[in-house]
Amino acid sequence: MKTIKKVLVANRGEIAIRIFRACTELNIRTVAIYSKEDTGSYHRYKADEAYLVGEDKKPIDAYLDIEGIIKIAKKNDVDAIHPGYGFLSENIEFAKRCEEEGIIFIGPKLTHLEIFGDKVKAREAAEKAGLPVVPGKRIKAIEDVYEFVSENGYPIIIKAALGGGGRGMRIVQEEAELKESFQRAKSEAKSAFGSDEVYVEKFLPNPKHIEVQILADQHGNTVHLYERDCSVQRRHQKLVEVAPSVSLPETMREDLCQAAVRLMENTNYINAGTVEFLVAIDSFYFIEVNPRIQVEHTITELITGIDIVQSQILIAQGYSLFSKKIGIPPQSKIKTNGYGIQCRVTTEDPLNHFLPDTGKINVYRSSGGFGVRLDAGNGFQGAVISPHYDSLLVKVSTWGMTFEQAAAKMIRNLKEFRIRGIKTNIAFLENVIAHPKFQNGDYDTSFVDTTPELFQ
Ligand code: ADP
Repeated sequence: MKTIKKVLVANRGEIAIRIFRACTELNIRTVAIYSKEDTGSYHRYKADEAYLVGEDKKPIDAYLDIEGIIKIAKKNDVDAIHPGYGFLSENIEFAKRCEEEGIIFIGPKLTHLEIFGDKVKAREAAEKAGLPVVPGKRIKAIEDVYEFVSENGYPIIIKAALGGGGRGMRIVQEEAELKESFQRAKSEAKSAFGSDEVYVEKFLPNPKHIEVQILADQHGNTVHLYERDCSVQRRHQKLVEVAPSVSLPETMREDLCQAAVRLMENTNYINAGTVEFLVAIDSFYFIEVNPRIQVEHTITELITGIDIVQSQILIAQGYSLFSKKIGIPPQSKIKTNGYGIQCRVTTEDPLNHFLPDTGKINVYRSSGGFGVRLDAGNGFQGAVISPHYDSLLVKVSTWGMTFEQAAAKMIRNLKEFRIRGIKTNIAFLENVIAHPKFQNGDYDTSFVDTTPELFQ
């Protein structure tokens, strides 16, 4: 068993604070890093120690300063680094450097980052494990796309192999758009992800996005913590998540969860990960694995009672999932209780194309009460929201014994917030939760883009 006494979180905002909290509860000392632009950011003050990183770098690059972060870790006797999500969380070079320096990387092994960081390799691994994948293939030249289309027809979606976060994807409806979309997809992939490698998939009409949370330890034990429905998306980015799914037939839920476990066992996966699927009518297809903690892990915690971040840290130390320390029961005894909904409150203006707003928060009065969980970064009066980082302000997660209760609680919480000085998407989120389609579980990934009344 390895001992972790001090953890550095190579991240910022709400997820850094979420991880500090988990560490503190485990009696582990916490270290924050912050860019010069984040000098006044809350995460800096929520850690036991905090150090400036990437002083001479641009705001985002500061958090990508691998050597700078390693140096801080070494100098301050850090045993382990948690990368959070985004930034360096799936960076193979970073994980490698941690390993070389004898620092525990709280995440999977290098091989898993290699497989799952590349969506084409991930698809191959899924096929090998017998999972259904969306028809697709790696494309080098436009001729490859023509060949694919002659077999599968339009519409298609061209994706960056190394893409993520809903970026680097282009839907092509018909032949006339193909040439330009192909070129654009390649150049966008190159500039955003450093590689112009792309692949093509059949574009499924209005699927649901369902994903399965996995935990796996170093002793070969793998469990799933059921699914989340993340179909409420805008431009392929998740806005509202629900656990468990309201509309998934029970047999498909079983099949999905089993398939996710099978893939992770097949690749000897370790730590927390998410297997993502698209569900179309009565079939499901694998799309990708996220080998890290996800933004929406909160709602799985609400319905299972399992602390995923603490589990990650303990798994990295070598504990078995079923040890007293982690305390997860065998799979057959892992049950869900009620429903969780998470809304991502951002500083975006829904009435102005969701343009991120910046400036000082003059008033910040939070919601509260039974069945709500708040994960905020700079959510406080006087906070200055800078244009440099993502616009997530606070994650509001509600729990109810029934989906209706969780939804009613969400609306009540959203209404209770008072945030002035900066625009937010709260009114839009209220419209989503109150919409009959959402309330009836009758929504898919096209819901937001095809429901103009949400924007009023
Ligand atoms: P990212 O890694 O950028 O999040 P994903 O591959 O997970 O990208 O896809 C994000 C979203 O894009 C999905 O949830 C879905 O809404 C849409 N999408 C991706 N692939 C397809 C597809 N083949 N057909 C229809 N929608 C898709």
